[in-house]
Amino acid sequence: MVEKETYQAMLSPEVVKGIERRLRELNPVPKPKYTECDSRELAYRNKCYRNWCIKHPDRAKRIQEKYNSSEQGREMRSIRKGRRRVLQLSCEGFHTTREWLDRKEQYGFRCAYCHKKLKRLTKDHIVPLSRGGTNYIYNIVPACRSCNGSKGNQDILAWDKFNGLQQVMSFN
Ligand SMILES: [Zn+2]
Repeated sequence: MVEKETYQAMLSPEVVKGIERRLRELNPVPKPKYTECDSRELAYRNKCYRNWCIKHPDRAKRIQEKYNSSEQGREMRSIRKGRRRVLQLSCEGFHTTREWLDRKEQYGFRCAYCHKKLKRLTKDHIVPLSRGGTNYIYNIVPACRSCNGSKGNQDILAWDKFNGLQQVMSFN
């Protein structure tokens, strides 16, 4: 474990990349359950679905309502209206909603730091975006609001709850 002061002095983009690489090894992301398709395929499917919706408005409405109340639907809404969206878009990397849902499942729907089981978990960037962390799923763990808030923009290694995450990592 690196000393707090040493770590802060050492922090450079290369170092951040190194930490992320290490995180990826220590804390592997589960394999996706569904395969992603390319954008042309997606555009075609969307077009077919829209046409189907026009023909079957009642059934389309029921499907939309079901989606909105599902976990994935809630997630999509929070992404759309999230204030952090702009920041996240300007940062390197991306992850899908499905990857995030799988990530939460991997952690047993618990906060990665204090291990409390919660329905509403926020995305915590292990290496904060403001410090050069990326938006790839391996840099993201579920965290409760209180842990996420208390970590803020600090470096992970300098934060006292880091031990909680290390514990989780060693389980994998
Ligand atoms: Zn927590």
